[in-house]
Amino acid sequence: MTADTSRMIQSINPATLEVNAEIQSTAPGDIPGIFEQARTAQRKWGALSVRKRLDCLMAGKEFLLANTDEYARIITLDNGKTLLESLAAEIYPVLDMYRFIATDGARALRGEKLNNPIFPIARIESGNVFEPVGVAGIISPWNYPFAIPMTQILAALLAGNAVVLKPSNLTAWVGDAIGRLFRESRLPDGLLQILQGSGSVLGNAMMDARPDKVVFTGSVPVGKQLMARAAETLIPITLELGGKDPFIVLPDADIDRAAAAAVWGAFVNAGQTCASVERVYVHNSVAQRFINKVVEKTRALRVGNGLEHTTDMGPLISEDRITLVEKHVADARAKGAEIATGGDRILTFGGYFYQPTVILNANHSMECMREETFGPTLPIMEFSGIDEAVELANDSDYGLTASVWTKDAARAKKIARRIHTGVVTINNCLITYGFAQAPWGGVKESGIGRTHSVHGLLEYTSIKNITTHRSMLSHDIWWHPYSEAKYSGLKAAFDALFCEGMSCKAGGVLSLLKNFKLLK
Ligand code: NAD
Repeated sequence: MTADTSRMIQSINPATLEVNAEIQSTAPGDIPGIFEQARTAQRKWGALSVRKRLDCLMAGKEFLLANTDEYARIITLDNGKTLLESLAAEIYPVLDMYRFIATDGARALRGEKLNNPIFPIARIESGNVFEPVGVAGIISPWNYPFAIPMTQILAALLAGNAVVLKPSNLTAWVGDAIGRLFRESRLPDGLLQILQGSGSVLGNAMMDARPDKVVFTGSVPVGKQLMARAAETLIPITLELGGKDPFIVLPDADIDRAAAAAVWGAFVNAGQTCASVERVYVHNSVAQRFINKVVEKTRALRVGNGLEHTTDMGPLISEDRITLVEKHVADARAKGAEIATGGDRILTFGGYFYQPTVILNANHSMECMREETFGPTLPIMEFSGIDEAVELANDSDYGLTASVWTKDAARAKKIARRIHTGVVTINNCLITYGFAQAPWGGVKESGIGRTHSVHGLLEYTSIKNITTHRSMLSHDIWWHPYSEAKYSGLKAAFDALFCEGMSCKAGGVLSLLKNFKLLK
């Protein structure tokens, strides 16, 4: 295919606004054919054993390990995050997902045998098999342009599906590098295809092509639109949406560690992380100590080009993101917050930079405490009692992750159970995304379903129950003809099977034996 230059997408380095690369975009009219190829490829792939699929997929891990520096560099240039973040938060979760699919993931797909006390008596065998759904449409965002689609693709392919991926047009170059990784690992032609271009243009064409499953990671409004489209033909959909993740510091927390984590969790990837620390609640007895340390550590952050190993925080992805951060900071200022450090964009570097910003005296009337900021802000609010902190954490339309900071693990676990989110970490934040065996996903407007883990893997499957009856009887007791004796016999069988008390159980067995002939 010759490149049509009128349909090229530019990969822009958000640190310098230079063009990194140009990527051919997909014409919406090509999408039906792309899905057709994917369906053809899936039929063969889905018929392979899990072991054979795995042999093919694992070649990608070797390729990634051999080309880690190049992939980290592409991610940094395309997205802006620092090289260390590309390594730790993008490539590491993918490597761990390779480990997962080769172990727990492959095991889970073996299926499961079911047990029931009636099975041996009735000579029944029953089990579940996990079949591929067909072609999975994966739509992913720009903020983790490698880890998010890669971990989802690996699970979908292991489960026997084909994948049509729509990466964000803001990180099309990373999307292209994902395609290369799978080509290098000799995935069968057509099994993974990549649609490049704007979501609003390609999204409809993709849904018209009727994927058998959609996994969308992105904003709440687009997630709702896609769910409405999916409902038209009942396409199963997993939604990984936004977050407003609370960070609760109890009086007995290790304040040094909590402050360092709050700063890292709020400013990693310039705050553009669905699970980033979006709002802090600190107990008033330790608030001043915590705030002093947070402000000191934030001031020490070195903002710059992510390619420099000395940079702690890179740029934001676009002008739109800076505009939203400015709006939240202005709103907080107008409502009485104090900006302890930061609070402005940085013009000297040329790219989309904003200062890491700590907002004090925050409260729930402010946008920065209620809406996803998705930028480098760290709003802090004080509380005086645990119930109040839990209430504040739950006072949100979102429910993705939360963290609790205390030396009392038992107490923290009780608090964790009261917080309405998909993930709670104790004395850490964000890390579970890097553990492929931990389910990832939220409640409320943070989404529906899970990715990662066996739970996420099975979302790419259709569960089929296969039951075999080896009875030689001419008919089962509950079949025709019906009679009062059969009714009594069945009732006696219920007592024999389900009564907890011995006398009731024994009565059931006796009555069953007495009526046995009548049951035939
Ligand atoms: P977005 O919703 O604008 O875009 C996400 C993807 O959807 C992109 O590929 C985009 O091109 C595509 N898209 C846009 N409109 C579409 C349409 N009408 N039909 C189909 N596809 C369409 O989100 P974004 O700005 O790329 O990402 C930021 C959001 O993603 C934040 O809210 C963040 O919290 C969320 N996010 C969630 C998770 C999670 O795991 N829960 C992870 C990362 C990001």
